[in-house]
Amino acid sequence: MSDRILAAVMPGPGRPVEIREFARPDLPAGSALLRTARSEVCGTDVHLWHGRLSGVPYPIVPGHVSGGTLEAIRGPLRGIDGSALREGDRAVFFDVHRTCGRCRACTVHRTPTRCPSRRVYGITDPAAEGLFGGWSQAVYLEPGVGIARLPDAVAFDDYIGGGCGLLTAVHVLERAALRPADTVLVQGTGAVGLSAIALARLGGASTIVAIGAPAARLALARAMGADYVFDVDGSTPGQRLDAVRALTHGEGVDVVIEAAGSARAIEEGLTLARDGGRYVVAGHYTDAGPSSVNAHQQINRKHLEIRGCWGSEPGHFLRALSYLERYAASVPWKRIGERTYPLDRLNDALADAEAMRITKALVDPSVLAQHVSPE
Ligand SMILES: [Zn+2]
Ligand SMILES: [Zn+2]
Repeated sequence: MSDRILAAVMPGPGRPVEIREFARPDLPAGSALLRTARSEVCGTDVHLWHGRLSGVPYPIVPGHVSGGTLEAIRGPLRGIDGSALREGDRAVFFDVHRTCGRCRACTVHRTPTRCPSRRVYGITDPAAEGLFGGWSQAVYLEPGVGIARLPDAVAFDDYIGGGCGLLTAVHVLERAALRPADTVLVQGTGAVGLSAIALARLGGASTIVAIGAPAARLALARAMGADYVFDVDGSTPGQRLDAVRALTHGEGVDVVIEAAGSARAIEEGLTLARDGGRYVVAGHYTDAGPSSVNAHQQINRKHLEIRGCWGSEPGHFLRALSYLERYAASVPWKRIGERTYPLDRLNDALADAEAMRITKALVDPSVLAQHVSPE
């Protein structure tokens, strides 16, 4: 094993990603080094690239959801489910770490995803502190990080195809409190929306409607379990309202899941929910600007329940793994990860993701398109 580890570093907003060399980290007790097999480029990475998230300590090594093989362990080390981990295990980890367990968010409000101490691999960990991101040949798993063996039935491409979108979708479905035979509308057919469709289908929804774009993602939305899909650019809000009402006894849907990240989607989602329905907003991870709401017509008189959904907790990570173990063979999460890029082609991957030329870009950090010579 080499002492030289290459990583793709995002130096700052608007600047190209560049390859940098890191020393192999010294491992304190309770830590591990993960040889990265797969990471991903998600919508958050595109936002990071443009500086749309506040409090990001650039330069960073992006790639918050990743998987690989445990190359070195300073153990004994137990996984997040309590089982012993060994060198050579295929493993994945929960990207959120350092949640304090002592602040008001953690203890009083029981909203640990709003803990101010919380850090996230690939997003809020600085490259100056080491290999805290999956766009790297190896990831440093510090003591306390939640690590899990990847079930034998789950390929790295299944896990990363679901990726952060699947973890988020598990939390979204929890917030949606889905009941048997609920009708569901999913706004947005990116990684979060596609996994939300699959989980709503597995969770007992009756009719599932998806609104999104482009055509390839709408086809994938059907494969994930949507009954009806609407191209957001090829139909009008009025046409979609008529269609949704026709499918729901004229009422609107029981549950709307927003995974579109557009201010206009909020306005439409409030209208398409039925009286007494539920609306979970999960797509506004960055500020998409104000939506205009008629509180009388769209909230109060409708007796509507609106919930936000921020981040995920260790339980969502483990539940995502359980879903994959049972359903990766029948739900096409793998198809979400459409193309795999070498470590030194991340600028292309970000541009392709932003232009929606692909559903999701995967990263294989062990591959370099160009030979990198030692200095
Ligand atoms: Zn806390
Ligand atoms: Zn992500």
